[in-house]
Amino acid sequence: MDKILLMLQLQAQLNDATNGDKWTKGVTKNGKDINWKRCIYMECAEMVDSFSWKHWKSINQEPDWDNLQIEVVDVWHFIISLAIENYSQTLRGGIEDLAINISNLDSFPSLDVENKKFASQNEVIEKVESIMLASLSKDDLNLEALIEDFFDLTLMSGLDLESLYRLYVGKNVLNQFRQDNGYKDGSYIKVWNGKEDNVVMKNIWEDNSDIKPDVLYKELTKSYLALTKS
Ligand code: MG
Ligand code: MG
Repeated sequence: MDKILLMLQLQAQLNDATNGDKWTKGVTKNGKDINWKRCIYMECAEMVDSFSWKHWKSINQEPDWDNLQIEVVDVWHFIISLAIENYSQTLRGGIEDLAINISNLDSFPSLDVENKKFASQNEVIEKVESIMLASLSKDDLNLEALIEDFFDLTLMSGLDLESLYRLYVGKNVLNQFRQDNGYKDGSYIKVWNGKEDNVVMKNIWEDNSDIKPDVLYKELTKSYLALTKS
């Protein structure tokens, strides 16, 4: 429950910083519409692209499980943003209420057990498409069902609450780092010496599992400065 609450708080902070503090009304401080459901299905498409799903191209390529995990964390950013927005707009409550309700979901306890096992490619894609379907639907949002589906997907992607939390905090720091280094105006460099910044972040995290968010931010700065100076 603590980890869920912390992630919700970090997400709210990131959204406040990026979009202004009225973002739960569905519009940014720059007057741009926010569509979290679209963010969700587009990230889901990135998940599917972690597999060689095309029957006409690179048919023997192995799945990119590392990338899948990064995309799972990406979609989590958007699902919890949608959840916070939904709680605010329907007057269901604030972040604390949401955290309690998430940790009371049926599938939550299984998430809190160490897990590194992946499901098959087809099972993962089927689950991803179920999330896409929910985010493309014009029906009223069934937030609980969406989060339950996401937790299933988390487990199918070799993650659990602990690893989801770590990767989430890492990606949250990276997202802040991107915003601080020209992401909005397009000047940010995403590929660092042939590696996507996501992968650099994940590697720093894997080399030092106890790293604090501010130290991770400093490590990213160091690598980025080395890159932009050369
Ligand atoms: Mg991607
Ligand atoms: Mg992504």
